[in-house]
Amino acid sequence: MKVLVINSGSSSLKYQLIDMENDCVMAKGICEKIGIGGRHKHSSDGKGDFIEDVEIKNHSEAARIVIDTLTKGDYAVISSIEEIGAVGHRIVQGGDLFSGPELVTDEVIEKIEGLHSLAPLHAYPNAAGIRSCKAVMPNIPQVVVFDTAFHQTMPEYAYMYGLPMEYYDKYKIRRYGFHGTSHKYVSRKAAEWLGKDINDLKLVTLHLGNGSSLCAIKNGECVDTSMGLTPLEGPMMGTRCGSIDPAAVAFIMEKEGLSGSEMNDIMNKKSGLMAISGVSSDFRDVRAAADAGNKNAELALHMFAYQCKKILAGYIAVLGGVDAIVFTAGVGENRPDTRELIVEGLEFLGIKIDKEKNDVMGKDVDISSPDATIKTLILTTNEELMIARETVKLIQ
Ligand code: ADP
Repeated sequence: MKVLVINSGSSSLKYQLIDMENDCVMAKGICEKIGIGGRHKHSSDGKGDFIEDVEIKNHSEAARIVIDTLTKGDYAVISSIEEIGAVGHRIVQGGDLFSGPELVTDEVIEKIEGLHSLAPLHAYPNAAGIRSCKAVMPNIPQVVVFDTAFHQTMPEYAYMYGLPMEYYDKYKIRRYGFHGTSHKYVSRKAAEWLGKDINDLKLVTLHLGNGSSLCAIKNGECVDTSMGLTPLEGPMMGTRCGSIDPAAVAFIMEKEGLSGSEMNDIMNKKSGLMAISGVSSDFRDVRAAADAGNKNAELALHMFAYQCKKILAGYIAVLGGVDAIVFTAGVGENRPDTRELIVEGLEFLGIKIDKEKNDVMGKDVDISSPDATIKTLILTTNEELMIARETVKLIQ
């Protein structure tokens, strides 16, 4: 079966067509600047790629462009829409309404839109992507896969915040967690890698990228995760401040006369590695600056690793021990220096990495030293493939 994976944002629609026979990406691309111009970037396996400036008024036009490119012309990889067995949509926020993938119905779309106060940037664009694909491919089953769903198994004491209960009752303010598709994917991959049953494993997965989150996984289920109501909580990130004293927020807002949305903007886009280093939000640039003697860049990298270490060790306590820790995503897969800083000093727990083995990028590899009692793995993530697998599983 071939599955089309769709990730629809406010002004973009990303897609991948995956052949589930061999997990290969047949074609992928992005329609950008939807409603504000339009640009289409596409690449087909074995046929090359192109970038074209073309007017894209809305998500329906984007979906039409995607289907036309996949089925007609020089970059076609299938001969008709009917070859697509299903469409899998990445949905950012499922609240507590969705604990797994679901087949799209009008009711499901309305529920996703109903969660817009919890996902103001994503709910409507996600729903627009689903509606557009339904219109262009009315006879093909559509499935929604949520970033939050994997975390729905968290116990109440892990997801509740110590705020007045009325805010939970009225607004459902609680921890939801994100990156769930990735945490689930690498946890299953870790079980395979270790030759163990996922139902018999304790894992901490570290999805470290521009956005970073850690997840404590017991017997295949999430028991805690570091992102919260929004993806701002947890370790400091590329441009996000991560967890801070909440009173600092009110303090800064009062002193600087900032509105809630201005403060949100600062915490999400103008903080983190970028703000502390004063150089960049990209770990490569910050490392280069640190190596050239920039003290603030060095500080930023240390803060990130230190905050990850605290959460990692906390999760090992929560799990009552751990079989393996798993690094994944842009930084987790590609930054030996960051991995080393995070696990440094955790030898007392049995975590010890081999520096030579750790000197790799973008590969699945066990980097534990021979005398480590806890495995440290690097496993590449693939959220699109996981969405496609969940989609196939549901419709079958
Ligand atoms: P996002 O959260 O946007 O998906 P990524 O997972 O792509 O982010 O991670 C981006 C970060 O990963 C950047 O800070 C970058 O430094 C690092 N990174 C990504 N790819 C590489 C690479 N090939 N080599 C070194 N670092 C990389």
